[in-house]
Amino acid sequence: MAFSDARCTSCGLALGARGTVQFKCPNCGEANLGRCMRCRDQSVVFTCPNCAFEGP
Ligand SMILES: [Zn+2]
Ligand SMILES: [Zn+2]
Repeated sequence: MAFSDARCTSCGLALGARGTVQFKCPNCGEANLGRCMRCRDQSVVFTCPNCAFEGP
């Protein structure tokens, strides 16, 4: 699994730094979602680009 284009799903920040996370969409299990440290800290809502699932 390559994450060469991993970005924060909420704000678009490139991931790879400490504190960032990448995970599969909990709803469809297909889309790769990412969250940067800031969006994790602020519990910013993300939207899955594949199934439009919204979650914290
Ligand atoms: Zn972010
Ligand atoms: Zn999804």
